[in-house]
Amino acid sequence: MLRFAFLILALVSASQLSAQVNLVVSIKPLQLIAEPLLENNAKIRVLVPDSSSPHHYTMTPSDRLALETADLIIYIGQQLETELHDAIDGLGRDQSVLRLLDLPAIDTRPLSDDGRVDPHIWLDGGNSLLIAALIRDQLKALDESLNQQLDERYRQLEQQLIAARTGWKDRIGALPEKPYAVYHDAIGYFEAQFNRRHSLVLIENPEIQAGIRQLLAVRRSIADSPPVCLFTDVTSRQNTIDTLFADHPVRQKELDLLGSRLPDGANFVSLLDSLVSDFSSCLEQGDL
Ligand SMILES: [Zn+2]
Repeated sequence: MLRFAFLILALVSASQLSAQVNLVVSIKPLQLIAEPLLENNAKIRVLVPDSSSPHHYTMTPSDRLALETADLIIYIGQQLETELHDAIDGLGRDQSVLRLLDLPAIDTRPLSDDGRVDPHIWLDGGNSLLIAALIRDQLKALDESLNQQLDERYRQLEQQLIAARTGWKDRIGALPEKPYAVYHDAIGYFEAQFNRRHSLVLIENPEIQAGIRQLLAVRRSIADSPPVCLFTDVTSRQNTIDTLFADHPVRQKELDLLGSRLPDGANFVSLLDSLVSDFSSCLEQGDL
């Protein structure tokens, strides 16, 4: 009898294992959205390695294999992950792919003035929650047994975001209105939530080497209105910064836009929380 019970247990755990959903996401922020919904019920593979830029991602053969065997693929869109987009397009499997920038529900903003859409959509809490809802619905379609868990976990994320927002608004609302610069125009969604806007972007497009004329224009802007803080990110090049700020001191703060430095168990609310903290800690300091 005991042996029989063990057998049943073994069968049950085997079927639970097989219920694991195989998810492939392009960048870590998407993992931080999907993982809290699924916990042990999913295997999530992140394609862009920690501490490297999605703007400069090159696909490996094992990434390609992961794409071919995934139950669900989630990525931002052609504008952020060009190479990945082409590879996924080549797979010819549209119903199990969430290409977020193409979904009308996602709230997008234009980048500077060149007509492109800003791909850093996860830096808006509302967008991240919406992405969580989209993932929840796709997963329900894949595995009905997850319905209740997915609904509960989604509600928890929603509550956590609502609770955190008040504190974020208070902290950023209290910051002095000082000019600050960003390395590339990546935090527009983040800023818009708090009615803040940088005074200067150093590099218009991190995928293209900046021309000398553009760099000279940035140097003039720095001289005209010296920023107190410069927010850098994983795409930043220190020699470019040193050249541009040769005559002007500036406080530099690297923003962890992809959540690479977050501990295990973090979610997208923790990512935004760490950004609020880094953003504020630089601007809270007095003049240089
Ligand atoms: Zn970027």
